[in-house]
Order: sequence, then structure tokens, then C-alpha cells
Amino acid sequence: MESSAAEPAGIYVHWPFCARKCPYCDFFTFGREHPDFAKSSGFANALLAEIQNTSVVFGAIGASGCGQGARPKAVPEADTLYLGGGTPSLMEPDQIAAVMQSLGEAFALSPEAEITMEVNPTAADIERLQGAITAGVNRVSLGCQSFDDRFLTLLGRDHDAAMGRRAVEKVRALGFENVSLDIMFGLPGQTPADFERDLSTLLEFEPEHISAYGLTLHSGTPFKRWEADGRILMPGDEPTARMYETLMDRLGEAGYAHYEISNWARPGLASRHNSKYWSKCDVYAFGPSAHGVVGGRRYSKPRDLDGFLNLAATRPDRLVEVEQPPGEERTRLAEVMMLALRRVPGVEWSELDRWSGRSIREFYDNEVGRLCEGGMIEADEKAIRLTRRGLLVADRVMEEFF
Ligand code: SF4
Repeated sequence: MESSAAEPAGIYVHWPFCARKCPYCDFFTFGREHPDFAKSSGFANALLAEIQNTSVVFGAIGASGCGQGARPKAVPEADTLYLGGGTPSLMEPDQIAAVMQSLGEAFALSPEAEITMEVNPTAADIERLQGAITAGVNRVSLGCQSFDDRFLTLLGRDHDAAMGRRAVEKVRALGFENVSLDIMFGLPGQTPADFERDLSTLLEFEPEHISAYGLTLHSGTPFKRWEADGRILMPGDEPTARMYETLMDRLGEAGYAHYEISNWARPGLASRHNSKYWSKCDVYAFGPSAHGVVGGRRYSKPRDLDGFLNLAATRPDRLVEVEQPPGEERTRLAEVMMLALRRVPGVEWSELDRWSGRSIREFYDNEVGRLCEGGMIEADEKAIRLTRRGLLVADRVMEEFF
């Protein structure tokens, strides 16, 4: 599979610590209540070692620089950086500064780079945020999730609605002009009217960008067990679909462009970093559990904190696990479709052909015809995209391609 050769790369850094582990979350992260939280200062040093060894780490993949077959570059160009997790806003200002400095040495980071940090309302103190600004962070993604205390309590969040509001006000007062707010829907006991109220509150803050995620029950999480025990009751498909429709309608009316299944933005303010994943550009990922693509090869870092701490300085090449492309042609092509159709405006057939190395339209002729007849997708000679109806059941539409 090819990646987009013209684009500079993106960088993702995973900080695997949070003030408290939320009971629905399956990200690789440790709350303060976990004994491994104490390893966060040692982790910062390991992360620096991994970044300083960028050429060794990604040399293990056998390529660097954007585009399959591109000549390896000693210093890859990058124009987006995403500090995610976990809660990277828990990082001390000197840790953020050191990470940024190391990244500045390992990459040719564009002066206009989009540099995002995820911020949790309980980890939004002024000193840390000032430190992040000084280090170059110019965009924040604030994990408010809801402005209704009933649902924040139910989600096990460590903040209430008032703290969420204060966090938004704080980042605005500090001068952030590119703010993304997260909101969740399809929560246990939530009605479409509850969600509509929540969305109205969010819109009062006039964020530049909104990410909206339906609650997913991941195996191994307390939420999954609680649902099995009957302790929480999910709202069901129909009310959840109505909430998603509310999102599409209200955000469209408010002037946001729906550019990806879960993301909306003011014109020109779509997340440049996230778009790299959906456009198959290179993403260099650091930290345990981080995923990326370099030179067309997908890879991941192990979900293993001690393994990461042990190997980052000594054998950083062993941190990369290159994923084998699916053996089945159909699975490989379905993965291309699944990624590309997340882009709401659609994707051109020629781009899909370039990614897949064959005429994908020909391959999926029957499926495309059937899904068009069912009103799930729209396709013409040039491009394909999900319809509004298809967006409501996107997962089921994608399954048709496997
Ligand atoms: S704050 Fe975010 S990353 Fe941390 S546990 Fe909660 S949902 Fe997961």
C-alpha cells in the first residue's frame, strides 16, 4: 500500500498516565490509583531516549520519509505533532520542553506545524498549560465528554461540568485559538433530549473543532462487565442513531463541516494530524501502544510499560512491531475502504486505486451496486462516499467490504 508521497509526516506521542482511569476506557494508560503510575518520571526519560533514537527505531521498519519506496531521510519532515494518551497535560513543563526539543532535533518540524495536546479538565493548570505554549503547543483537545453532571458521574470522570467549563475558559484566556472539544453520546440512560441539551451547552463555547464519540463497550473494561450484570443499561440503536442525527443537524446549522465520521470543524480547521491517518500519510509514533505508518508499513509499539522502559534506551529497534499486511486480498482492500470512507466528503476512486494497487471499483462492483441501491452510499465515475443514512450505520456498511 502506498502512502501520500507529497505530504510531510505527522508525529504522535503517547503519554500513558491519567489522573484516574475511567471505567469505559481501554486505552493503554494508568491512573494514579495504579502502582505503575509512579513510573511516570522514568517514563519521560525513556520517551526522550526513544525520540533521540528515531533513526534506529524507524530504521527497523526499513524506511523513513513519506511515501513507499522513498529514500530514507536522516531527518524526516513533519508538520503535525499530537501529544495524546492518557493525559499528556499531566506532563511537567520541563518534560514537555525536553520532548519538544528532542523532536525538534529528530525531525524537520515545520514552523507552521499544528501541535496539539490533549488536556483533561482536571489536568489543566495554568503553569503546565503555559509551559506547553512556551514549548510550541498551539492547539488543545479538551476531554470534556459531557456538561451534564449526571453523565460525568456515571462515566466515572474525575471532573464535573463546572470544571469542564472552567477548563474551556482557561485555555481561551491563555490565548489558544484552536480548541477542540470532545463530547460523548449513547451513554447509559441518556435520551436524545438529554444529548441535545448537552450539545447546546458545548456550542456555547464556540469551539473550532468538535469530536463526538458514541460510547463503545470494550471487553475487559468495568463498563463491559457492568452492562453484562445489568448495572448499566445502554440506550439502544435507535435513540443512539437519533443522537448522531442531532449532531449532524445541529453542527451543520452552526457552520461546522462534517469532515470525518466522528469529527466536525470550522472551515479550514479540520485536524491536520488526524487527516494524515485517513490519507495514509506517514505517522511516526512514540510511546507504548502507539500506532503509526511509515513508508506504507503499519506498525505498533507494545502495550507493555516495563518493556518500553527497558528497551527505549538499550534496544529501541525492538520497540517496533511491524504489522503484516492481511494475507487475504479481500481483507486488505476492505481495510482500505474502511479507512477511506471515514472521510465524509468521500474519496476518489483514483486515490483508492493508488492505495490498493488495483482497480478497487471493479473489485467491489457488486457490493457498491447493492449499497447504492440501499441508499447507504453514493458513487459515480469519480468518487464514493457514505450517505447520511450510511453514516448512521457506518460499521455495518464497512462490513460489506470484508
Ligand atoms: S482520561 Fe481519557 S485516556 Fe484517561 S482513562 Fe479517562 S478516557 Fe482514558
